Amino acid sequence: MSRYTDANCKLCRREGQKLFLKGERCYSGKCAIERRNYAPGQHGQARKKMSDYGLQLREKQKAKRFYGVQETQFRNLFDKAAHKPGKAGENLLIALETRLDNVVFRLGFAASRKEARQLVTHGHFTVNGKKADIPSMEVKAGDVVAVKEKSQSSVKFKEIKEMQITVPVWMTVDTDKLEGKVVAMPRREDIDTPIAEHLIVELYSK
Ligand code: SF4
Repeated sequence: MSRYTDANCKLCRREGQKLFLKGERCYSGKCAIERRNYAPGQHGQARKKMSDYGLQLREKQKAKRFYGVQETQFRNLFDKAAHKPGKAGENLLIALETRLDNVVFRLGFAASRKEARQLVTHGHFTVNGKKADIPSMEVKAGDVVAVKEKSQSSVKFKEIKEMQITVPVWMTVDTDKLEGKVVAMPRREDIDTPIAEHLIVELYSK
C-alpha cells in the first residue's frame, strides 16, 4: 500500500485526538485539533454511532498512524507480539515503542516520529557504535543510540545540545554527548500512548 501523503492533521481529526505528527505545531494553538475537533469532510460534524467493529478498526488505524507504521508491517508486529509470552496488546505496544525511529523521537533528537524516521534513514544515528539506518530496527535494553560523530556539527543537533530533555523512565539521555540509552524495556504503565490495545487484539482475533 502506498504511503499516505495528504495533510497529516486530517489524520488526527479523523481519530478525534492529537497524534503528534507535526512536531512543534502540535503543541501550539495552530494545531488543527484545537481549532476544528471534528472529522474532515462534508459530514465530519455529524454524530455517528460506531459499531464494535468500527471502534476496533479506528483504534488500529490510530495506533498505525501514531507510530507511522504501514498496514503489513503493523500486522506482522502484531503476529510476533501474539506469539510472545504475556499479553498480545502490551507486547505490540512495547514493540512499537522500541522501534529505532520511536526511540530517537522519545530521546528528543527529533520533533516528530516522521522526522525521526527521516533522520534515521539518512544515516545520522548509530546503535552501540554501529551505523543504524533502518527505522523499524528493534532497540533492546542496554542499547546506546547516538548521533553519528559526523552529524553532531549540524545546526539541528547543536541546538539539541542546549536543550533540557525529559525522557520516559525506561531511557536516559546525555544531550552533551548526543546519546541515549534504553536502560530497560518499557512496561505498559511506562507508555503514555493513548491507545486501547485490547480493541486491536479483538479486531485481529476475529
Ligand atoms: Fe495532529 Fe499535530 Fe496537526 Fe495537531 S498539529 S492536528 S497534533 S498533526
